[in-house]
Amino acid sequence: MSVHPITRRAIYRRLRAANPEPRSELQYTTPFELLVAVMLSAHTTDKSVNTATRRLFPVANTPAALLALGIEGVKPYLKPVGLYNAKSRNLIGLCRRLLEQHNGRLPARRAELEALPGVGRKTASIILNMVFGEAQIAVDTHIFRVANRTGLAPGKTPLAVERALVANTPEEFQRDAHHWLLLHGRHVCTARAPHCPSCILADLCEYPHKSVAAPPARRAHAPRTPRRRRAD
Ligand code: SF4
Repeated sequence: MSVHPITRRAIYRRLRAANPEPRSELQYTTPFELLVAVMLSAHTTDKSVNTATRRLFPVANTPAALLALGIEGVKPYLKPVGLYNAKSRNLIGLCRRLLEQHNGRLPARRAELEALPGVGRKTASIILNMVFGEAQIAVDTHIFRVANRTGLAPGKTPLAVERALVANTPEEFQRDAHHWLLLHGRHVCTARAPHCPSCILADLCEYPHKSVAAPPARRAHAPRTPRRRRAD
């Protein structure tokens, strides 16, 4: 069952107080660079993506420039992200589609974003949220875990969790909810051994297996030192 709305607000308030302006850990300077970085981040870490894009973007950071490099031209840059053969093909296909159908600009509709090569629901949600300001919350493995453990949006599938989060997250938190939950899952509520004792949500979280610090043990009575008898 989902947490009480008062608890939900309290959770988001704490996350906001701890990190008022959450930022993606992906490095980018334009909406197109963000789209490329998010697309490349599938099945790999943001650190690997940043390693690749730090070299790629100074050489080519527009659909036309990347298309000119071609699949073989982008491959050496994408090696750090893994699956680079498929990702190179998708990246060039995406650039071609943007140029042919969208004048080189990012489309603002989900269906058009998801029709781009290499762009799935999660990537589209991130772009709709971060570029177009829509109340979308992309659910990855970290957000899925945090939403279920805390009780913010329990669900058996990422789509069920996404729908619950979008429906239940108060408007004032919708813009940043994705980043708060992602960063919390990545750095605090980790898959194995979550850092419950130091978690700012520990008293609000409904995870039955959370390991919170034990209350201070009652001090056992020290054995009384026998009073010395006053020498008469
Ligand atoms: S208390 Fe533990 S399980 Fe709950 S959100 Fe914090 S780290 Fe995750």
